[in-house]
Amino acid sequence: MKSNPYRLGIMGGTFNPIHHGHLVAAEIIRDEFKLEEVLFVPSGKPPHKGDNDDEIAPPEHRWMMTVLAIASNDYFSASAIEIEREGDSYTRDTLMELKKIYGEKAEMYFITGADAIAEISTWHKTEDLPRLAKFIAASRPGYKLDWKKIDPRFRKSTYLIEIPALAISSTEIRKRIREGKTIKYLVPEVVEKYIYKNRLYQRG
Ligand code: ATP
Ligand code: MG
Repeated sequence: MKSNPYRLGIMGGTFNPIHHGHLVAAEIIRDEFKLEEVLFVPSGKPPHKGDNDDEIAPPEHRWMMTVLAIASNDYFSASAIEIEREGDSYTRDTLMELKKIYGEKAEMYFITGADAIAEISTWHKTEDLPRLAKFIAASRPGYKLDWKKIDPRFRKSTYLIEIPALAISSTEIRKRIREGKTIKYLVPEVVEKYIYKNRLYQRG
């Protein structure tokens, strides 16, 4: 049942692949902020990841891995809006589209890691982002959660939260796969199986 206002968490990412760092951050934040739902939104063509980054698995695979990874959590869902959108994906467009889908009254909480929140002001068309959503930045090993790094325009609508540290990154997982090392327990088992079945990330 929808409460009023509906508290919607939005977890954007490349999810290349999705891993337990993403899932733990989303779950802890869901609980702390009493979110009714956390929507995972895999990016289509990520604007800040470079044009010819051939390390990025096709969106269909990243979508499938995301759906598999979240299936066991009733509060988690996924949206393909960025994947289906033509051209670059911008958070602002995504938030506007979600506002239409979930209604004006939905309170949107955009979840990021400590690294991504510092980049916010470098994103495209950021002026009205603080009006569209609140931002929650989760601590992440290797990145300092620091108010000084956050654009002053965003400070009023941003929360910083310490979560249990998981020093997992998709970059490290891709590297481990290339090197033939185990990725067990870094990603959900279904995702691990999916990666091997589809021979993802094996090129050096
Ligand atoms: P890559 O190494 O390819 O950049 P990533 O592990 O950073 O991958 P992304 O898909 O870029 O994963 O991240 C999506 C969001 O999840 C970002 O806001 C990022 O900061 C956050 N995030 C990723 N890993 C963690 C983690 N271990 N702890 C907390 N937040 C994380
Ligand atoms: Mg990243």
